Amino acid sequence: MGVAPPAYDPSAPENATTLPVGAPATVRGYVRELLRRHRKAFAALMAVNAIAVIASMAGPYLLGGLVDDLAAGEHDLPLERTAVLFAVALAVQAVFVWQVRLRGATLGERMLADLREDFLVRSVGLPPSVLERAGTGDLLSRITTDIDRLGEAMRQAVPQLSIGVVWVGLLLGALTVTAPPLALAVLLGLPVLLLGCRWYYRRAPSAYRAEAAGYASVAAALAETVDAGNTVEAHQLGKRRVALSERRIAEWTAWERYTQWLRTIIFPTVNLTNLLILGAVLILGGAFVLQGWIGVGQLTTGALLAQMLMEPVGMILRWYDEIQVAQVSLARLVGVREIEPDTGDSGLTPRGRDVRADRVRFGYHPDVDVLHDVTLRVKPGSRVALVGPSGAGKSTLGRLLAGIYGPRRGEVTLGGTALADMAAEQVRRHVALVNQEHHVFVGSLRDNLLLARTDATDAELWAALGAVDADAWARGLDEGLDSEIGSGGLTVTPAQAQQIALARLVLADPHTLVLDEATSLLDPRAARHLERSLAQVLEGRTVVAIAHRLHTAHDADVIAVVEDGRISELGSHDALVAAAGPYAALWRSWHG
Ligand code: ADP
Ligand code: MG
Repeated sequence: MGVAPPAYDPSAPENATTLPVGAPATVRGYVRELLRRHRKAFAALMAVNAIAVIASMAGPYLLGGLVDDLAAGEHDLPLERTAVLFAVALAVQAVFVWQVRLRGATLGERMLADLREDFLVRSVGLPPSVLERAGTGDLLSRITTDIDRLGEAMRQAVPQLSIGVVWVGLLLGALTVTAPPLALAVLLGLPVLLLGCRWYYRRAPSAYRAEAAGYASVAAALAETVDAGNTVEAHQLGKRRVALSERRIAEWTAWERYTQWLRTIIFPTVNLTNLLILGAVLILGGAFVLQGWIGVGQLTTGALLAQMLMEPVGMILRWYDEIQVAQVSLARLVGVREIEPDTGDSGLTPRGRDVRADRVRFGYHPDVDVLHDVTLRVKPGSRVALVGPSGAGKSTLGRLLAGIYGPRRGEVTLGGTALADMAAEQVRRHVALVNQEHHVFVGSLRDNLLLARTDATDAELWAALGAVDADAWARGLDEGLDSEIGSGGLTVTPAQAQQIALARLVLADPHTLVLDEATSLLDPRAARHLERSLAQVLEGRTVVAIAHRLHTAHDADVIAVVEDGRISELGSHDALVAAAGPYAALWRSWHG
């Protein structure tokens, strides 16, 4: 009887991940680095642990001594002295076991905190294109499930495993010193244990990896369904999404059952080993005593020490198992570290302000181009409007001009320097993308504004708020700039959120702005109000506006008509109307 691992399925969860998973060598390297960072605490833990273990051996030795005395026919047993020594040893053991627990837990928490921080820093720095490709579900599942799984491992498994190994080593050493033949008896149990472990650990890691990936893809399917709720509803995709989730859940639970089965084999094997060892020590030890190779006292001490082996051996296996699971999660986290962060030379600075796209090609998927050979020059201080049908590639072109994505071919340059070669912060100082996403972070109004420029003074913050007409309501807040906003604090209206975003822009002070549907979500009155604030922000800057209302286009210096990922017309409003091409048609249909 046996449970076979689930059959290979090309669409199986393991293959659904698109963010990389760390290679074993990378994972080991990372663990070594973590331990190195905490080597003092680790050494202290091991020392404290050794003392606790040595104190725990007092019992067997004292008892062995008494047995020897009895065997030698002593009538005056040193009972009092033995009892006092035993009590002292117990007290020492208690204190040091407590220390082991405390230090083990603290070390574990510290390592976990390090890991979280490392991972968070990397996730935040991931290039948007990577997330675009992998979807955020996978990253989310790594941040939640994998970190949770690792929490247990870091807090417990790493310290406990090290404790167990030292413990076994000390016990075996003591056994060898006390009664070498008994150490041989212990070795009899070893082959069974080794065989069992070999069998288990050959199957376990990949099974646990598949299980974790399976869970991630369940989470990804659910998150995606919820995210795209409107689309799912509009296209009546409900049944299909449910079926997808069910299939993913079935795959995941198949792996879960398989790993469960693996555990039902390994744990009884461990118990059997324990029985074998104790049996061997007693039977062989008895024979050795009869042969006169060892004394009764030695047998007593040895049998007790052998008996004590069970705890740390069980501990090692239990936590080793946990580490297997954790290793999988760790590989998934460390994998994120392997992604090249957006590289850019922070020393590179643009010489000039004109933005140019030169024969740019770009696509979100490897074999589908969204932009084909787009060339556009945005002169400093000018207003350029992008118009065209929905899906033509206007937003995409905007993202490229703002340096959010790098082109597949061709170049987008600022003052002659390719945006792709500059560091992201450097680009952000010059060009900013303004879209409908105005996230208000939980924190004070000040913190929300300082995101844009960390060294701004309060006066500058107020000036920025004033520039976008937000100072009236901001001054009305009880605690001014210190007022807590975002979820949990004061709720800000969408219009206020947009003003905060615009105030950030004023602070960041980029000379070029790409506006994508900046005002389209608001009701007309709020939009007009916002446009006024926006107009003040735009004053004196180069603006590329993705125009939804053609009057924006009308006022622009240059209008670029985007159709099918190409610029089909370029020129001023009057010139384009006179040319009677696509723009003229748009203008006529819009103007009625
Ligand atoms: P527009 O702004 O002119 O409506 P977009 O630039 O948003 O056009 O879209 C151009 C094409 O690129 C469309 O086919 C759209 O489906 C695709 N697209 C846009 N954004 C993404 C994205 N983040 N991932 C994949 N495809 C996208
Ligand atoms: Mg768009």
